[in-house]
Amino acid sequence: MTIDRTAERRAPGAPPGTTRAPTLGDLAALLPDAVVALDAEGRVAELNDAARLLLGYTRDDLLGEVCAERLEPRDGDGNRLAAGCWHPSARLRSVRAMAEQPVTLRRKDGRDVVVRLTGAYVRDAAGGVAGAVLSLRDAGRHSRSGLSGIEIVSTVSHELRSPLTSVKGYTSLVLNRWDRLRDDQKRLMLEQVNHDADRVTRLITELLDISRLETGRLVLRRQPVDLARLAAAVVDKVRLEYPGLEAATEFPADLPKAYADPDKIEQVLTNLVENACKYGSPEGLTIRGAVAAGEISVAVADRGEGIPAEDLTRVFTKFFRRAVGRPSGSGLGLWISRGLVELHGGRLVAESAPGEGSTFRFGLPALDLDRLQEL
Ligand code: ADP
Repeated sequence: MTIDRTAERRAPGAPPGTTRAPTLGDLAALLPDAVVALDAEGRVAELNDAARLLLGYTRDDLLGEVCAERLEPRDGDGNRLAAGCWHPSARLRSVRAMAEQPVTLRRKDGRDVVVRLTGAYVRDAAGGVAGAVLSLRDAGRHSRSGLSGIEIVSTVSHELRSPLTSVKGYTSLVLNRWDRLRDDQKRLMLEQVNHDADRVTRLITELLDISRLETGRLVLRRQPVDLARLAAAVVDKVRLEYPGLEAATEFPADLPKAYADPDKIEQVLTNLVENACKYGSPEGLTIRGAVAAGEISVAVADRGEGIPAEDLTRVFTKFFRRAVGRPSGSGLGLWISRGLVELHGGRLVAESAPGEGSTFRFGLPALDLDRLQEL
């Protein structure tokens, strides 16, 4: 294809003021979706944290590299998409946006990731392509549920009906037989009503979280977060419910702070530690922090029965509960946790050796003081 190359262009890193490839502002850095800016030759001019995490490359790895050569984009049938140049439609000056399409990209670690790619061309005064801004949305992220709206309504109705049936049954019983019931019987029934009311409240809170996550209305209040301290607080809190909880927290003394919303990260960690107690074992838990390439990771490892390989990705889908153990929740906890981590630009993954336990690990961007000062 031919591209109008009459425009003057700037190599990445050249001073501003000349015609230049687009760079992303710091706001783009905070977006949950990966954003990559390309110059006129299809070389990477900038990328945000989410792109770094999605593709597994550092910023330095990719800056100045021809995007199509590094990431080997392929269509749904596995055919390579044109390397080093733009889609033929870009020749038409009126074309500004790229149609959304599923594209497979190669990560630095050699694994493939399927994204929904869309973007916009940047055109110079003569209408030629001076660059592009690409948005790469992890295709797995928004198709996590796989449930249709009607299936969700039916599952939710079912989940709400069983505690409400019990609330209605016990309250009617207590009211109708008030004089005939002993105090200890009344107490038992009221405790059950109280427990079921908590279940309904929890489910509604989870559904509201889901709705906010899916409509992009969940706002993060980011600040520096000391993850070691947060993990210790979570262990103390969960121990109130599971007195047998034995958890070792291993965080390097020089672990940088994360730049995250402390309430949301506490929710994620609480969910992982509670799950480890509920479905794994409250004994022999380890919560480990580590840092690599500007990303802080936290891993919660239990010594329970583990999760078979076929269920390892399914545990992150909505309403999924394994039949084993005592599935006491709604099957929404891990879906929400993954959504919250991804909103921070990170990933939550699980690994397990059946019979030996499971590890749930999430990564968060480290606090970058230089960037904060620029903002
Ligand atoms: P819930 O909110 O109902 O607790 P989750 O979404 O948190 O559900 O988890 C989904 C399912 O994943 C659980 O029903 C359980 O079977 C499985 N699971 C989660 N964590 C673990 C773990 N640490 N060990 C074994 N199974 C687990």
